[in-house]
Amino acid sequence: MPKHLHIRVQGIVQGVGFRPFIYRLALENGIKGYVLNDTEGVTIEAEGEEEDLKRFVKAIKNEFPPLAIVQEIKVKEGEICGYDKFFIEKSRKTTKKTTFMPPDTALCADCLREFFDPNDRRYHYPFITCTHCGPRFSIIKDIPYDRKNTAMAPFPMCPACEQEYNDPLDRRFHTQPTACPVCGPHLFLYKNDKTLISEDTDEIAEKTVALLKYGHIVAIKGVGGFHLACDATNDEAVRRLRERKRRPFKPFALMVGSLEKIKEFLHVSPKEEELLLSKERPILILKEKLPNAISLYVAPFLSYVGIMLPYTPFQHLIFSLDKDLVLVMTSGNLSDEPIVFKDEDAFDRLGHIADYFVTYNREIVAHSDDSVMFVLNETPFFIRRSRGFVPVPFLLKEKTPVHLFAAGADLKNCFAIAKDNVVILSQYLGDLESLTTQEVYKKAVAHFRKVFDVHPEVFISDMHPGYFTTKLADELAEGKKRIKVQHHHAHIAAVLAEYEINEPVIGLAFDGTGYGTDGHIWGSEFLIADKRKFKRVAHFSYFGLPGGEMAIKEVWRIGLSLLYEAGIDLETNIPFTQRLKGNPRTAFILQMLKKRLNCPLACGMGRLFDGIAAILGIAEKISTEAEAAQKLEETALKAKEKLNFSVDYKEKADGIIIPCAQIVREVISLLQTNVPISEIAMAFHRSLVEVSLKVIARLSEKYGLKTVVLNGGAFQNRILLGMLSQKLKEQDYKVLLPQKTPLNDGGIALGQIVIAQDQLKG
Ligand code: ZN
Ligand code: ZN
Ligand code: FE
Repeated sequence: MPKHLHIRVQGIVQGVGFRPFIYRLALENGIKGYVLNDTEGVTIEAEGEEEDLKRFVKAIKNEFPPLAIVQEIKVKEGEICGYDKFFIEKSRKTTKKTTFMPPDTALCADCLREFFDPNDRRYHYPFITCTHCGPRFSIIKDIPYDRKNTAMAPFPMCPACEQEYNDPLDRRFHTQPTACPVCGPHLFLYKNDKTLISEDTDEIAEKTVALLKYGHIVAIKGVGGFHLACDATNDEAVRRLRERKRRPFKPFALMVGSLEKIKEFLHVSPKEEELLLSKERPILILKEKLPNAISLYVAPFLSYVGIMLPYTPFQHLIFSLDKDLVLVMTSGNLSDEPIVFKDEDAFDRLGHIADYFVTYNREIVAHSDDSVMFVLNETPFFIRRSRGFVPVPFLLKEKTPVHLFAAGADLKNCFAIAKDNVVILSQYLGDLESLTTQEVYKKAVAHFRKVFDVHPEVFISDMHPGYFTTKLADELAEGKKRIKVQHHHAHIAAVLAEYEINEPVIGLAFDGTGYGTDGHIWGSEFLIADKRKFKRVAHFSYFGLPGGEMAIKEVWRIGLSLLYEAGIDLETNIPFTQRLKGNPRTAFILQMLKKRLNCPLACGMGRLFDGIAAILGIAEKISTEAEAAQKLEETALKAKEKLNFSVDYKEKADGIIIPCAQIVREVISLLQTNVPISEIAMAFHRSLVEVSLKVIARLSEKYGLKTVVLNGGAFQNRILLGMLSQKLKEQDYKVLLPQKTPLNDGGIALGQIVIAQDQLKG
């Protein structure tokens, strides 16, 4: 007896080859009927014998195409219609736009093979793509996702491409960005004075490699923007790039041609290997194996380096010309500015950094930087979630009654929108200090509202009154509902959202700075929190930041502040006090501390790291956030002993305080007994973990909770994250760590959304 099934598939199922996949499955299983795209996904009307239909539905669930994300499959029985074949029906036009859009994806294995096949018509064609790979998010201007709504609109398909496009059994069936040398975009090589050198791909690739090996800096237009490339083994070239980019410390990311090449000089674990080869192709932070394989200017002072494998055809091409090439591939921007992605900006903004430009005549609509991840104990963590992952949605159990917009935080910004039952986190937008970055942010928000057809009724931001994002949310709200969320509550809620936890947990939010409900700067918070509310139950003690923002850049001020709070005078004989005595501004800063003038109070873990790094003589002034903390961690990694000191917390009626003064005094006494700096740095880490464990044990006993959430930028410190989560597990706590959003403020917007959603329930 034949049966009729009505099958609805929801998720990312459009523009990812879902209909040809269904078509092929139907033919394989003897199913008749049709498949079509509609606004909410894919609908299949299927008729066949019961056994065949069972196999068909099972295969839909298990074998869907690589770019698809299946959220829900609903199957209903219906009346037999008596179809005589299976076909792909025209898309049904309705008014509602779908919320899904595929991310940009690395070149797939099939396309890669064709790219290097001299007999293929797309041999060495740098815009080769298919249904399973290539640019999407970066080229889509509007939905529905049709070629006319993408950056491919100016390139009508040639007959050969059109034939593939219309063949349901072809890999390029309905691949919107498909192209070939006859009909698609092409490359250009320019000198930085805009002199055109070549438009021939092979010549450009050969010249690029030669220029790089000669020591030049080449700007190369990629998927989400321009990279700045140079030879990573050439000190002179890397140093020049640092100078021109005005980036003295922050490590540069690398690219090499193969996994084998990476393994020559970096340690790669199985999980790291999997991520390096994944279709998202993130930058992975790996530990050095061979110390002198690359210029020491790539990652000064650090034994870790970020590296990725090629993901665009042109990148594959240049590495095929020289298998031993190791390139710096850093975002094309001036320090702290957004990545350059428009050709018209490129020569203006990068012309004084790059000597040459490789670009192409297709617009990048939505920019994105490379994503950055690290792996600890075979568990991956995000530092930056952008290209390859955006705009993959977070799926919610419940539909949101109204659309929401969450502005995120001002550092490492991503914003978010919520609609139906999804939250979409934006690409990485960086630190919203400069006007240029703020403009790019505003444009990205407008783009998201347009392409995802979002009309927010509620505008959510941080509580920080000085944040750009807070003010912008006020502006965008135009009198609509505003919700403000405490920064560290958002950090914890982001993890609660990921694991779908509704019950309260013990949440540790350790980060740099976040505005607290008492008006002070928080950042070493122990919260009892659920998705709706939180209670601050413990934190490290406050210390002054003399000069506010200035103290974050001149960390010696924080070191001095910590000494002051601990009652340690400058006669104490350690190198740091010697240097302070020789510093003409010491007396002035001390006066600020004594009179509490322009000395906001802070307890951020990041700031404590800054201050301890200063006291240990590891950092004095920094050029990039977390530089002092990274150097402190790096120093601790060299420790050999198991040194430790104990810190006692103080329990008061309104919560637990962990005294920084005691930590400082312990550090000073170790310094005075001539213990090596690396041992003290490690003892400091270990003691933080130990006192945190003690406080958690007390909170667990008091509140009857056994689940602990760790989040916040300070947990990008591997020693802290690794040691604390390990020991918590040993003590039978359930430990939840963010896996889908960055540990830093890049995940704040997701937390903001779920807190607001819960509060809106009333
Ligand atoms: Zn492909
Ligand atoms: Zn063509
Ligand atoms: Fe934060």
